[in-house]
Parts: sequence; structure tokens; C-alpha cells
Amino acid sequence: MNFPYACSRCGCCCLASVCVVGQRVYGLFEKEVRCPGLSFQNGMASCKLVAFNLVPVGDGCCIKARAFKNGVEYDFVALPADTKRQIVGVTLKGGCTK
Ligand code: SF4
Ligand code: SF4
Repeated sequence: MNFPYACSRCGCCCLASVCVVGQRVYGLFEKEVRCPGLSFQNGMASCKLVAFNLVPVGDGCCIKARAFKNGVEYDFVALPADTKRQIVGVTLKGGCTK
């Protein structure tokens, strides 16, 4: 599958919902929880399951999400990589525990 944008490792997709593999491995019955496999280091998201070749990563990004700044709407997927990571970082610092 071709993706329109490269993955910036912002972690937004994993924060939004736990993937099917994560649900199975961690026995999660709902997607709206923080995935135990997700971690951040210097703003870069990592998945513990990558080491076991359980999840495909790095192919690209097609997340459907919007971002707003000063009343202007942006298509999240098309934002620069560092901006995506910055937005997620601010969200996490703001107390988002998901
Ligand atoms: S860039 Fe897209 S696919 Fe990569 S971690 Fe962020 S939301 Fe997920
Ligand atoms: S951290 Fe890994 S297991 Fe968890 S939702 Fe993301 S890709 Fe899936």
C-alpha cells in the first residue's frame, strides 16, 4: 500500500486508538486506552512490539485528523514531521494520559 506521507513517529495514531495487534497482545477490550506498547523518547514514538516483528511500521501516514491554530483548520497528515511531533508533545504535556 502506498501512503501519501512519511511517518514522523509522532505517535498520534497510537494515542487515538490501540491497533488490533496491541489489543490482542495486551488483552485490551477497548481501543480508547493508552497502549502499553507505546512510549516516547525525545518526542519520537516507539512501539515495543516492533522488536518482535508484530506490527508493521514506517510505511507511511494516512491518519484522518484535523489540527486547529488561531481558528485555522489544518489537515494533520500533511503537516511537517516536527510539527506533528510538537502537537502530540504539547497534548501529552497538557495531561493527556490516553
Ligand atoms: S506520522 Fe502518522 S503513522 Fe506516523 S506515528 Fe504519526 S500519526 Fe502515526
Ligand atoms: S504502540 Fe504498537 S501495539 Fe500499541 S497501538 Fe501503537 S502500533 Fe499498536
